[in-house]
Amino acid sequence: MGKLYVVGIGPGDGRYLTEAARAALEEADVLCGYTLYVELLKPFWPEKATYSTGMTGEMERCRWCLEQAAGGKTVALICSGDAGIYGMAAPVLELRKEYGEAEVEIIPGITAALSGGALLGAPLGHDFCVISLSDRLTDWAQIEERLRCAARGDFAICLYNPASRHRRDYLQRACDILLSEKSPETVCGLARSIGREGESIRILPLSELRGTEADMFTTVFIGSSQTRELDGRMVTPRGYRT
Ligand code: SAH
Repeated sequence: MGKLYVVGIGPGDGRYLTEAARAALEEADVLCGYTLYVELLKPFWPEKATYSTGMTGEMERCRWCLEQAAGGKTVALICSGDAGIYGMAAPVLELRKEYGEAEVEIIPGITAALSGGALLGAPLGHDFCVISLSDRLTDWAQIEERLRCAARGDFAICLYNPASRHRRDYLQRACDILLSEKSPETVCGLARSIGREGESIRILPLSELRGTEADMFTTVFIGSSQTRELDGRMVTPRGYRT
């Protein structure tokens, strides 16, 4: 019996690959994942066999990896950021039984909320929620309800999958819901292509975020009522009194 590692590789910059992730990738006979992530790792292991599929081949990719592991291979299934956060760890564990209980190990990685948060400053210094705006697997009505609840709870909010080619206005729709509960002055931030070529950040009020175009390589941060901009950094105080 082989082994399947489900590996979070962090935002993309090799410096943010953990030692455990590096060891698993090193040990693997084959690296499998979404084409872009396989390409990011190729320079580190140019000789290693790879298997990549497009964006929507997730289940096929999980099954292929489980099959390989059941057949005696050591496989690394690559996820950006963390393997368990909108990643492949859950579907792999759901499918595992069908493949003779192949051995599976999940290796965590630095998720976009953390790498992007560090670039912006400390937007998640107090309680926060992470919400994906992708309605590919979740009803939009439920996403709206979660946004409303997070705003009412005055959480800082981190939005993943804020837009794609087919969902251009989702960030705007999300902002409209947030604006019904929060001040238009609320400090917000964008982190784009974290740890990759063209990395950029921007801090702006919620009223302006509404008219901003985001893409699938952007993570969006919405402050709580306590979040401030301090010398160009987005900071949510922990609440210590000075
Ligand atoms: N497992 C990943 C999330 C996958 S969902 C993680 O833990 O980070 C894909 C979304 O994550 C993207 O639409 C974007 O919102 C965010 N994301 C992932 N990597 C990113 C990066 N390098 N820069 C900016 N956002 C990123």
